[in-house]
Amino acid sequence: MNCTECNVEFMDNASFVNHFTKNRKCMEAKGYLMCEFCEKIFKEKSHLEAHMKSSKACLKLARYIANMPTIINSIRKEIEEEYERQVKELLTKK
Ligand SMILES: [Zn+2]
Ligand SMILES: [Zn+2]
Repeated sequence: MNCTECNVEFMDNASFVNHFTKNRKCMEAKGYLMCEFCEKIFKEKSHLEAHMKSSKACLKLARYIANMPTIINSIRKEIEEEYERQVKELLTKK
């Protein structure tokens, strides 16, 4: 087993996977995919998709990340509303 990208040879599968985990470029160059959440490596997209479906923890995180823009937006709205409220308060005080 060896990484053709950087010409490193590996004794076992674990160190091979470990190398990919640490070297994203090597992994991507070889066409492997990694689960962003548990750092498991998959040879095919369908394997990663199957993993996402079966691993509840990863799926939960993926959903959380997918919801991030809406979470950020709702927080931003609250901040803006609070800011407007404070500005109005200042204006009415004058
Ligand atoms: Zn490499
Ligand atoms: Zn995972």
